[in-house]
Amino acid sequence: MNKFFICGAWPYANNSLHVGHLAALLPGDVLARFFRQTGGEVLYVSGSDCHGTPITLRANKLGVDPSYIANHYASEFEKNFRDLDFSYDCYSATMRDSHKKEVEEILKKIYDNGFIYEKCEDADYCENCQKFVSDREISGICPICGKVATGDQCDNCLTALTPDMLLNKVCKTCGKPTTTKKDKHLYFKLTAFQPELEKNIDDNAHYWRNTAINESRKYIKEGLRDRALTRNLNWGVNVPFEGYDDKRIYVWFEAVLGYFTAGREASKKLGIDFDSFIRDKETQMFYVHGKDNIVFHTIILPALLSSIDKTIGLPNRIVSCEYVNLNNEKMSKSKGNLITVNSLLQNLDSDVIRYFFILFNPERKDASFQIKDLIDINNKHLVGGWGNFINRNLSFLIKKFSGILPNAEIDENIVKAVREEYQKVGKLYSDNELRAALEELYTFVQFANRYYDESKPWVLAKEDKDGFDKVTATCLYLIVNIANMYLPVMPKSSKKVLELLGVKDFTWGEVNYDNSIILKEVSVLFTKLEEDKLDFTLASGDTLVVPDNK
Ligand SMILES: [Zn+2]
Ligand SMILES: [Zn+2]
Repeated sequence: MNKFFICGAWPYANNSLHVGHLAALLPGDVLARFFRQTGGEVLYVSGSDCHGTPITLRANKLGVDPSYIANHYASEFEKNFRDLDFSYDCYSATMRDSHKKEVEEILKKIYDNGFIYEKCEDADYCENCQKFVSDREISGICPICGKVATGDQCDNCLTALTPDMLLNKVCKTCGKPTTTKKDKHLYFKLTAFQPELEKNIDDNAHYWRNTAINESRKYIKEGLRDRALTRNLNWGVNVPFEGYDDKRIYVWFEAVLGYFTAGREASKKLGIDFDSFIRDKETQMFYVHGKDNIVFHTIILPALLSSIDKTIGLPNRIVSCEYVNLNNEKMSKSKGNLITVNSLLQNLDSDVIRYFFILFNPERKDASFQIKDLIDINNKHLVGGWGNFINRNLSFLIKKFSGILPNAEIDENIVKAVREEYQKVGKLYSDNELRAALEELYTFVQFANRYYDESKPWVLAKEDKDGFDKVTATCLYLIVNIANMYLPVMPKSSKKVLELLGVKDFTWGEVNYDNSIILKEVSVLFTKLEEDKLDFTLASGDTLVVPDNK
């Protein structure tokens, strides 16, 4: 059986999800649903990233415990994903004890394997705040592009940084220049894994998008450095070694291991032997995320996995995407110009959201989100195209033939076309060409509508009942098969159509309707959208309510 480990990036539990997260994560659910439909063994996991400096900084400012913030957003994310019909086998959180416990065990294992060492050296210190400041707590000028950057990464040019590379370093909390003081930390020997990392890229690059290949190669070319595994924090996963009580594990190391802690949790539920699943050479390891997360999945994670045990499968399918801008402007929490998932869900049906963000997915270049495009696509593709094809057939049967479905032979040219369509669309889905899969399916919907128009069943109904039955049977056959092919992207409406026409098994491949069914009524699947009836207020995404009794 084909095996798929599908790992959706873990959103950071410090602000609401927005269209950028959605575009980056949605392909994971489409792939998971498609591979399940084709009979594959799928483990699809994600969770909320709850630790790290930004949450602690904010908690200090608000006078609340960091867990208060993380819990708030982690439960908001869970609800968002449920409302969007994400089919995670486990949606975890890095706050969970099971995650923390397993990460500590993994760290001990990596230490025993000789890839973690202690180093005492000058660390950035803020005399004013009287504390060590981590990379995320420092800002300065990026040496590559000259823009303001944080100590771990420049969000402008995407260069991975360490604080010593920044110019004019200051403490983000108080704005004063930082000094240095001796401090000890644990380091991960990233440099030991260059050959494996290069080989993994070379072996699998043909599945990756150019940005993923380029960012990964650039990172190696700039020279790998050992990375500090620990941070001066009191919020996070404990460091399982003596003398590190005041430190926690760096979020990026523990969050990427979340795929494995959540994977183990999911596999227990599904009765899968996780340890052999992740070591099976046939298992395809999909990692789904935005471009700012690429190197954590193509460099840091594979190095960590190799340091645990060289038989664990490395990330071989990188599904990265570019950014979503809003009317050609970069969205950000600080600008307050986010379109949040909450506001999408208040205005739109989940299938419409899913269809649009796959069809307009920034697979290879940044996309500019415009409400107008979403309305146009909904009205043209879903209402005018697909919804109309279903509706005109079913309503006519109810109106003229009491909803009795015809029992007739199906046009053999259409059978051939449907079989070919499964081949084409199936190949596009499995190659992660999801936009192209939807474009192909929309062309097929247009073909179906043309077949209807040219066959004129409303004329045949009066003059040639056998002819009418044949055309209608063929159209119903088209409906159930198109719905079956749309299922990974639009699970809710597709299931509704399939069940209405008596299809119970949604396996990938030709299906047919049940002609013993009598249709009573059909509800409209998609409704026309009008711009003035939608309310997409731009937001900062901050939904946190600070308790009075803080
Ligand atoms: Zn830069
Ligand atoms: Zn300071």
